[in-house]
Amino acid sequence: MGDERREYEPTVCEQSTSEAVPQLERVVPAWVPEDAEGTYASREVMAVPAPAQTTRAPLAPPKRPTPAQLSEALVSGDRTALARAITLVESNAPAHRPLAREILSTILPRSNKARRIGISGVPGAGKSTFIEAFGNLLCDKGYRVAVLAVDPSSQISGGSVLGDKTRMETLSRRQECFIRPSPSSGTLGGVGRKTRETILLCEAAGYDIILVETVGVGQSETEVRSMVDCFLLLMLGGAGDELQGIKKGIVEIAEIIAVNKTDGDNVHRARATRAELERVVAFLHHVTEGWTPPVLSISAVTGLGLEDLWRDIEKFFTHTQTAGIFAERRREQAIVWWRALVENELKARFFAKPNVARLAEKIQRDIFEGRIAPSMAAEEFLAAVE
Ligand code: GDP
Repeated sequence: MGDERREYEPTVCEQSTSEAVPQLERVVPAWVPEDAEGTYASREVMAVPAPAQTTRAPLAPPKRPTPAQLSEALVSGDRTALARAITLVESNAPAHRPLAREILSTILPRSNKARRIGISGVPGAGKSTFIEAFGNLLCDKGYRVAVLAVDPSSQISGGSVLGDKTRMETLSRRQECFIRPSPSSGTLGGVGRKTRETILLCEAAGYDIILVETVGVGQSETEVRSMVDCFLLLMLGGAGDELQGIKKGIVEIAEIIAVNKTDGDNVHRARATRAELERVVAFLHHVTEGWTPPVLSISAVTGLGLEDLWRDIEKFFTHTQTAGIFAERRREQAIVWWRALVENELKARFFAKPNVARLAEKIQRDIFEGRIAPSMAAEEFLAAVE
């Protein structure tokens, strides 16, 4: 069947066109010049006939895979299934929780096998550029790499660390790599819960190195530390410690420190930063027994030092595995995670009770208006709801 529409040559109209058209009130189009006095050029277009009514039954909605099917597809390496499972795990919808739980319990025996590496650094330190270069290097070595993000700022701004994926363009095109931007802010344990569960899904899907990126502004480091085996801190070469806003505590939880941007005109300053950091690290208390964090010079742009960095990461894993630290830490992390889940759930259930919510609202108003001190209000509140 051809196109039903037919266009006619432009004609000069005098406010009436065809006898067959019912005489409706005519509105002169806005583009007609004021002095046209009702005469203007227009174009007539034949109306498209409405399609004949059919009696076909409406299409059935597409069948959603069951959790068992999704788990099976995910384990066999289906990236779409992995992405869907992550979406379920990230969802705050109560209806999705049992589905997510079923998937997690099915895949659990296959997870826990990857090396989990946290990467932190202030905005601008070069995290995205580094992950792009380092991720490619790992893929070239035959590893399958998943990149995830924990972003405290997304809870406030709605942004995300990996939001700008164009910066990881080559990596995101590789079949061996899976990149997932940070989950949106959430309840029930927040982004931490979601990222932990996403790690398990990625491991079950066969990724053997998980890079978890976070912004080095002090809020999420401890959370990421509690979900990875090795914590890597990226520093800006030559920027000066105070400029980097890095807290001493973050340097203390790092197992490897890499001074980025050791290239071009910045080489001398970056090397000076590295020497300074080496001096600082020597005086700090270290989180991993028997391991003094190495400080390396790297460049995400030229690739300088990336091979050395990987060698140090491997050394770290060998050290922690042979010393039993690795397994011990994972067990502790599982307990910390369980506790956080219970605490969050209890808190949510408690505040959702109608009498608690009512009283909380009243007491908060009293505090806000200065009628009662917060400490006293807390005591009164708990005594009243016990
Ligand atoms: P992020 O905010 O930590 O993710 O940092 P980006 O990866 O977005 O990098 C911030 C800026 O530093 C970008 O303009 C990068 O091109 C640049 N950059 C990152 N790594 C290097 C590096 O090794 N050398 C140089 N010269 N520039 C870099």
